[in-house]
Amino acid sequence: MTQTPPDLPMRALFDAQYQASRAQIDVPLALRLDRLQRLRALIDVHGAALAEAVQADFGVRSPRLTEVADFFVLRALLGDLEKHTGAWMRPRRVRTPIYLQPASAHIQRQPLGVVGVIGPWNYPLQLTLGPAATALAAGNRVMIKPSELTPHSSALLATVLHQAFEADELCVVQGGADVAHEFASLPFDHLFFTGSTAVGRKVAAAAAANLTPTTLELGGKSPCIIDASCDIGSAAIKIAHGKLLNAGQTCIAPDYVLLPKGREAEFEQAFAAAVASLFPTLAGNPDYASIVSDRHHARLQAMLSEARAQGARVVEVQTGAAQAAASSRQMTPALVFNPQPGLRLMNEEIFGPILPVLSYRKLDEAIATIHAAPRPLALYWFGSDTVARDHVLQHTVSGGVTVNDTLLHVAHENLPFGGVGESGWGAYHGETGFLRFTQQKPVLLQSRFAMGSLFYPPYGQRFDRIMGLLKRWL
Ligand code: NAD
Repeated sequence: MTQTPPDLPMRALFDAQYQASRAQIDVPLALRLDRLQRLRALIDVHGAALAEAVQADFGVRSPRLTEVADFFVLRALLGDLEKHTGAWMRPRRVRTPIYLQPASAHIQRQPLGVVGVIGPWNYPLQLTLGPAATALAAGNRVMIKPSELTPHSSALLATVLHQAFEADELCVVQGGADVAHEFASLPFDHLFFTGSTAVGRKVAAAAAANLTPTTLELGGKSPCIIDASCDIGSAAIKIAHGKLLNAGQTCIAPDYVLLPKGREAEFEQAFAAAVASLFPTLAGNPDYASIVSDRHHARLQAMLSEARAQGARVVEVQTGAAQAAASSRQMTPALVFNPQPGLRLMNEEIFGPILPVLSYRKLDEAIATIHAAPRPLALYWFGSDTVARDHVLQHTVSGGVTVNDTLLHVAHENLPFGGVGESGWGAYHGETGFLRFTQQKPVLLQSRFAMGSLFYPPYGQRFDRIMGLLKRWL
């Protein structure tokens, strides 16, 4: 390993990784596992400090939330990678068609080279280290650009990663949008971006200039359908949990609810009871995260004010005594009934604790509402009528689905996680993630008994006879 100081300019770091990736293409299993174990040790040793840094970034964000939403998910991912990398990196033999026999063929799985990872602020450790670990398992070098909105955790992440890794293996580049743009313009072998759809477009454009393939893990408006067969009392707590985890700042949080007409009061009551059971008080409750920045807090308040002004019924679900102080940015959850289609909260990803509730008469009306918007990152369905469930599954396209709960498909390592259309492209987790960062190189091994010369010119009667014979087989 070369010694490359992590404080080199971004381009020099890239060049060092690029050279290293070309000098060692065959990355042995032992080195891959060693890198994964260094990441695991880093979480074990520095997890508490990192979780406190995330807390400092948000204002209020429980280290226990970081434990479950960042570290638990990361440990599950690392365990899966440690268990399967040996098998996943092995070549795959493939059957050879009769007209090429007796040649044989296989697919060789090789690292791509240098992978860039750009992360968001909402789960700043899981969404940087998760893709990085997967890319390392696939034998790549990795550069991470974490979010500038989480400066404490980004700085600590850089420090501890640079202690554990050579900069030409894994390094961190910090900075805002300008740095991020420069980062996205590097000629990576793959660029993995998690963030908003708007910035995703810029990342895709910058990467296209280098023909760098991208994975875009974006956002959007994920619907939650409550079926007529649903027991709303038991569904409400799952919806409230999915919506209010990290105060709605979760890419796959239910963005809005589609509810059978006439059950609004039942839902309102059940949701309020669920919030009270999850967060008996909201103001000052360390379990209830702050909105990450003043700008995002103001954006969410503006969405609510616009909804009120346009005549929607806004129900703030207050629990405990005091109203949360605006300075803490702990925002009271709100249901918005009958929102007009033109409202910002019906056209932009909400990414906060506001839940519009749209009533529908027939299931196909709910499906039409989903089709009127770009394809969502996640879809949730609650109910017991399996025919209605399968109808929704067959007539909607989304990045992923959880039935009778929220969020959980992201935690299943054997399910590919990603978006579709405006919610992103490319998926990771499990072997899908490993292959995202792998060149699957086809190799054909010709036999010395090969008869390829039968196809060579000059073309004549012998050629026609052979083609005639082959046509019968194909
Ligand atoms: P964002 O798009 O504002 O920023 C994400 C990252 O992009 C940051 O590191 C930022 O510095 C960088 N960036 C900014 N300008 C850039 C540019 N011109 N070129 C390259 N990079 C640039 O997103 P955010 O506010 O940090 O995160 C919230 C969004 O992320 C939401 O839309 C959410 O749905 C989405 N998200 C998606 C997933 C997923 O897995 N699909 C997970 C978490 C968050």
